[in-house]
Amino acid sequence: MAGGGGVIGFHDVRAARARIERLVTRTPQRRSEALSERLGADIHLKLECWQDTGAFKLRGATNAVLQLSDAPGVVAASTGNHGRAAATAARRAGLRAAVCLSRLVPEAKVRAVRATGAEVHVVGDSQDDAQAHAEALAARDGLAMLPPFDHPHVIAGQGTIGLEIVEDRPEVETVIVPLSGGGLIAGVALAVKAAAPRARVVGVSMARGAAMADSLRAGRPVAVTESPTLADSLGGGIGLDNRWTFAMVRDLVDDVVLLDEAEIAEGVRWGYAEEREVLEGGGAVAIAALLAGRVAPRGPTVCLLSGRNIAMDLHCAIVSGRWRE
Ligand SMILES: *Cc1c(COP(=O)(O)O)cnc(C)c1O
Repeated sequence: MAGGGGVIGFHDVRAARARIERLVTRTPQRRSEALSERLGADIHLKLECWQDTGAFKLRGATNAVLQLSDAPGVVAASTGNHGRAAATAARRAGLRAAVCLSRLVPEAKVRAVRATGAEVHVVGDSQDDAQAHAEALAARDGLAMLPPFDHPHVIAGQGTIGLEIVEDRPEVETVIVPLSGGGLIAGVALAVKAAAPRARVVGVSMARGAAMADSLRAGRPVAVTESPTLADSLGGGIGLDNRWTFAMVRDLVDDVVLLDEAEIAEGVRWGYAEEREVLEGGGAVAIAALLAGRVAPRGPTVCLLSGRNIAMDLHCAIVSGRWRE
């Protein structure tokens, strides 16, 4: 998928919304009485964990898939929310979807991807092998590689969440957003800053392997060492050849904060105990950042809850207090 030159503007987010609105869910936003009381502030939850496939990535994938020029479908190398989104978006558009996974991926995850109707290719012993196979398949069959975050159509699609946040709470002053490769926060910040210029946008990553935070500090995209984290959907690098999200996050995002594992666990626990929402680690970091005191709520504050795809046994361990690092 070629990027096309220039910059991504607010009009791209509005165009994305018109394109995808019948294919994705417009998720609700509600006030959290529990968090508002606990923090003495006005806290709202954008429940993007209710999105079809269980995570926001369906928005960007759908916006990208609907703009394929002549490819007969897409291919992705992802075990997680991106793979599921790519497969679902392609299928809804009547296109072919192939997802390449390594043999190390647990059978339950393979089944979940297969259930979307995608062709699943289980190859090799690492994510790199799966990626290489995906590229070969793309070349052979003319499929488009669908990137997880660093693409203008993906960023504009995620930005539709920012539009909804401001429509539902025009007086918003703080928006707290999970941050990994930065497609989500780049799109959301673009839309929020255009529609509510006073609002501050804050990114939250896990302290373990925070690729964007390290890159911002270095002034250029840098590699990180990955380690296991509860926020597995926030893992991975931003790409040393990053074209879009690094500059957008640098220019649009007001602050980035980092959380340790116990703080992330507390976000997941609070989500269930107080909000009755099932959240994956990455989906709970906005709440976790408030609870840990790493982001001070200023004015009406919206926490973006980005996903709910967590293994049931891990969720049970966290919410029952049995989880230990
Ligand atoms: C992918 C993902 C993120 C991070 O999105 P980026 O665009 O990579 O910053 C956050 N939460 C969940 C649930 C995700 O799947």
